[in-house]
Amino acid sequence: MAEQESLEFGKADFVLMDAVTMPEFMANLRLRFEKGRIYTFIGEVVVSMNPYKNLNIYGRDTIEQYRGRELYERPPHLFAIADAAYKAMKRRSKDTCIVISGESGAGKTEASKYIMHYIAAITNPGQRAEVERVKNILLKSNCVLEAFGNAKTNRNDNSSRFGKYMDINFDFKGDPIGGHINNYLLEKKKEGFYFFHSPFLKLLFVQLLQGGSDQMLRSLHLQKDASAYKYICPGAQIKVRVLLMKFKAVADAMKVIGFKQEEIETVYKIVAVILHLGNLKFSVDGDTPVIENSKVVSIIADLLSTKFDMVEKALLYRTVATGRDVIDKQHTEQEATYGRDAFAKAIYERLFAWIVTHINDVIEVKNYDTTVHGKNTVIGVLDIYAVAEVHFEQFCINYCNEKLQQLFIQLVLKQEQEEYQREGIPWKHIDYFNNQVIVDLVEQQHKGIISILDDACMNVGKVTDEMFLEALNNKLGKHAHFSSRKLCATDKTLEFDRDFRIKHYAGDVIYSVTGFIDKNKDTLFQDFKRLMYNSSNPVLKMMWPEGKLSITEVTKRPLTAATLFKNSMIALVDNLASKEPYYVRCIKPNDKKSPQLFDEERCRHQVEYLGLLENVRVRRAGFAYRQTYEKFLHRYKMISEFTWPNHDLPSDTDAVKKLIECHGFQHDVAYGKTKIFIRTPRTLFTLEELHAKM
Ligand code: ADP
Ligand code: MG
Repeated sequence: MAEQESLEFGKADFVLMDAVTMPEFMANLRLRFEKGRIYTFIGEVVVSMNPYKNLNIYGRDTIEQYRGRELYERPPHLFAIADAAYKAMKRRSKDTCIVISGESGAGKTEASKYIMHYIAAITNPGQRAEVERVKNILLKSNCVLEAFGNAKTNRNDNSSRFGKYMDINFDFKGDPIGGHINNYLLEKKKEGFYFFHSPFLKLLFVQLLQGGSDQMLRSLHLQKDASAYKYICPGAQIKVRVLLMKFKAVADAMKVIGFKQEEIETVYKIVAVILHLGNLKFSVDGDTPVIENSKVVSIIADLLSTKFDMVEKALLYRTVATGRDVIDKQHTEQEATYGRDAFAKAIYERLFAWIVTHINDVIEVKNYDTTVHGKNTVIGVLDIYAVAEVHFEQFCINYCNEKLQQLFIQLVLKQEQEEYQREGIPWKHIDYFNNQVIVDLVEQQHKGIISILDDACMNVGKVTDEMFLEALNNKLGKHAHFSSRKLCATDKTLEFDRDFRIKHYAGDVIYSVTGFIDKNKDTLFQDFKRLMYNSSNPVLKMMWPEGKLSITEVTKRPLTAATLFKNSMIALVDNLASKEPYYVRCIKPNDKKSPQLFDEERCRHQVEYLGLLENVRVRRAGFAYRQTYEKFLHRYKMISEFTWPNHDLPSDTDAVKKLIECHGFQHDVAYGKTKIFIRTPRTLFTLEELHAKM
């Protein structure tokens, strides 16, 4: 175990702490951070601190140090995890996944990129062209997804919008032959202005304005000056040179991925349409809503390859079916603005989804014949973030964290305990909190918060957030993990009548119901979907297939945002549960992006949130390594005269016991029914060394 490192850098594995206490954990975390050791193990989990500076620890020579080595042979590093996952996949044909979690800005996306680079670097020694192609696209796709899927938030200059899951498929040789990307976006049902202002998408917009050629900008009717566009918030200056480089990199990446010229043009047209939409001004003339700057409408119509009248109509009216009649209902000025913002967000989100689908088409595994080539295995990399500032989004993300925690419990804690029981090994029971009860509180059919929210949204007529809260109170009044002011008037932490509280596994969170109803509904008027479908640009048309339906055909309600999110979380967790998991837990040392500052308070909060102490406790109670007697003997029999070349003991179990005793390891092992269990990695490391000397 990380023997090469001296103790002056702290303990390379938290399992080696003298006592499992928060102060000791924090002291070790701080010491290592200050010594520039950003990675620390908890058994097979890597805890990672964002260094906020470039470290020279990802190069070719480092890769070679980790390649093919056992996890505990080298100092803690992402590469150790990547290699462990790769080995499990290659040697044991196991599907594996690497779950990377932590707050926004903690270093998750960087970690996922280093992991991808490691895997790319150690695979395809035969330089097969198809494998190179797939690797190249997998790496390049990051750049495009970041450009279109990222938001510049206050916490992080380059933060993913919510999460990404990427599968890499491998052939029987262990070379990547394909992949699949899943993106988890939260529907941003905030008012459009804030959506773009917050400052989402600013990077993308400004990149286009600064990076696009004059000719390109002219054809998109755009001017270079960002302040001309309402959707672009003023604020942080971004260096023009950087933007130019980024713009070129994205354009190149799109070509490498295989976007056609026509498609790339459409992508930029859509981005331009969003900017133009933000500049539309509505007013009323008598009681008719009008658009003041019709020049902008004609630009939008031109870019969308549709007609002026159709754009104008979609912006000012909505078609509604009343019984058998279909009528055009005029918007108020407010509704028109609302509709426009919803439209801008929807075309952006649709664009993003389309880009992801496109990348997936190109890297999908094709023509892999398992009868000829054997099993095709997968490594999944999940990069997902922990906190958001807005209530509804925060609710969704915290629900996701509960799901992931439940998975962690199932896979690590429960599985461990059950295996010890099966093998008849005495086991000191670890008390852990099983958060299934909170998962149920959120997702249970009919009774959970999401169901209650959906029911409220189904009601015809005006449903308010307050009515939703009332329904929660009625149905969840007795739930131990739910409370509100109405239910507990004496609770002073709930300040407002609009708040409710969930006792999450990581602590209490208070949510305001404000906006829940609105954000949960699909608020895009059908008219916009039809407008897009009727475009003569085939790429646009393809993005909006449901616009084909006429108003009287639209009967089914679209799924709500929360239900869509819930479904995708359930699918994600099912997928992860079928794989062997590896964990990277990212921690942000401070909120100032400083490479020096260790903010004790903030770090402790994250350690709590990620349940790291509990993790150490389970790990220490358990065994680092286990193997069947037969396989263990097969590997190590040459290190003992009693077992080499053959043993005359009654069973393999007896032979293993003899072997262990003759090296004096008996205090660090337990003998199960079918397997030997080794407590500390150090013993295994020594065994490996003895093995290597033979
Ligand atoms: P997250 O995905 O968790 O929101 P990122 O991975 O985007 O966070 O990291 C935020 C920023 O922190 C990066 O843009 C980079 O500047 C810095 N950073 C993160 N990890 C590292 C690292 N391993 N080495 C150097 N800088 C890093
Ligand atoms: Mg990220």
